[in-house]
Parts: sequence; structure tokens; C-alpha cells
Amino acid sequence: MKRVAIVGAAGRMGQVMAEGLAREDDVAVRALVDIAPPARSHDAIVVTSLAALDPSSIDAVVDFSTPEGVVASATWCAEHRVGLVVGTTGLSDAQREQVAQAARSTRVVMAANFAIGAVLAERFAVLAAPYFERAEVIELHHDAKVDAPSGTSLSTARALAAARRAAGRVDLPEPTQRHSVEGSRGADVEGVRVHAVRLPGLVAHEEILFGGPGEGLTIRHDSFDRRSFVQGVALALRKMGDEPGLSVGVGEFL
Ligand code: NAD
Repeated sequence: MKRVAIVGAAGRMGQVMAEGLAREDDVAVRALVDIAPPARSHDAIVVTSLAALDPSSIDAVVDFSTPEGVVASATWCAEHRVGLVVGTTGLSDAQREQVAQAARSTRVVMAANFAIGAVLAERFAVLAAPYFERAEVIELHHDAKVDAPSGTSLSTARALAAARRAAGRVDLPEPTQRHSVEGSRGADVEGVRVHAVRLPGLVAHEEILFGGPGEGLTIRHDSFDRRSFVQGVALALRKMGDEPGLSVGVGEFL
């Protein structure tokens, strides 16, 4: 049984995690940590800081808070040798380095997208990448998302570019000679064009489009609601082990 504390437990993701992880047979939600009070306690201890917890009562911390919150979680987890699963995004390079530093003392899993379907979509796209002349990525998110393009689409585009390079695929020259409006071909991520859509009603979606002579292939993943991220976190908790080290993404646990 993995005994977990959820940091950011009063937030949109934290509430869904608390509810979803509490349903897993091999996970026990022992503590909810947030500077704001969570709507429901799920029979867990509710505190405003990890410092208020007995570290021997927790096997892993699941963090969906803020970049500053993650650094505090990483410091506490490293000091007490408690595992850490990081879902929070938007960390600066310095904050990432602090998490990597913590991984020298404890086990850390960090992923920009814990949806299993998104992980598989990227894997399928890497499989397809060498066989088509061109690939482009469209990421679609809710209208409150502050960064673009999404971390997931950047990861997918980089993985596609690496797979094409490894297969000796030479990129086709960009056909557009004249941009009537700047930016209309999206962002260039290592030769793969990435387009960002922001609309109310969306959650998190990604399409990877391939084109070749006379054929096309589209791989699409949809996160319809935040429950889509619970399974990947549960998988990470189950498979992460105790040895210090950093895993980026949950692909290695599938
Ligand atoms: P939110 O603003 O609704 O919730 C954040 C919560 O963290 C708030 O309740 C806030 O009070 C709390 N908090 C802030 N600082 C804290 C601290 N120092 N200690 C304890 N609690 C603190 O945000 P959200 O929509 O739930 O998203 C949280 C993060 O999860 C974001 O970075 C988001 O991008 C990320 N996210 C990741 C994935 C993934 O699969 N990796 C999926 C969705 C969202």
C-alpha cells in the first residue's frame, strides 16, 4: 500500500487526484496539503505544509501545486527520503535543477502529461515518424491555459524530430515563401510545426498529422476531463520503486 500526501490538494487537479487515488486499492491518501482549505478531506489529515507531517507516515508526495510549491516538496522529500511524483508544470530551469538535485537523495517522477493515452499517442507517433514526408502537431487546450505551446506538444515534436533524424529522414524544405500574416505556420520545433488552439470547452487535446505521397495519418488524443491524469499518477506510484533517481514521463512504466 502506497501512503501518499497530495500537495495542492485544494486545487482543480489536487481535488481530482485525491478523489481518484482514494479509489485505487493499493494507494492510501493519508494527507492533503494546501495553503487553501480543500473542499473535501477524504478522511485524510489536512495541513498547510508538508513540515506539519510525520515523514514516516508517508511513502510518496504527489504535487500538483505551483513551481514554488514543487521546490518546497522536493526539498522536504529529499530530506526525509520520501518519493515524489511531480505533475506541476511551468518550472524554470533553476527550479527543474532543484528537483533534479532532490532526485539524488530520493525517487522522483516528473511528467508534463500523466494521461496514458497521451503517452501512447507520442509512442505511436514516433513509430510512424520515419515513414512520412512531413509531420505537424496541433495542440488544443481550454482558454485559461497561460503557456503555449503545451509541454506535451513540445515533447511530441522533439520526439518526432529525433525519430526522423535517427531514421535518416531529411526534412522537406518549408514550402511557405511568404507569410501574409506572421505566425500562420505555427512554431518551428526542431523542424516540426506546432500549432496551438485555445477555446472554452476544451480540456487538453493533441493531434499529430502525417503526410506522404497519396496518404495521411492522424493520431489524436483527448483528455475530456481531469480524471484522465489519475491513472498515470497511480502507475508512477506503483512502479517508481525506492532507489534515488529521476524519471521524466511515465513511458518507462508502461
Ligand atoms: P490550481 O491553481 O487549481 O491549484 C493549485 C493549488 O496549489 C491551489 O489550491 C493552491 O492553493 C495550491 N498551492 C499553491 N502553492 C502551494 C504551496 N506552496 N503549498 C501547498 N499548496 C500550494 O491549479 P491546477 O489546475 O490544479 O494545476 C496545478 C498544476 O498541475 C499546474 O502546474 C498544471 O499545469 C499542472 N497539470 C499537470 C498535469 C499533468 O498531467 N502533469 C495535468 C493537468 C495540470
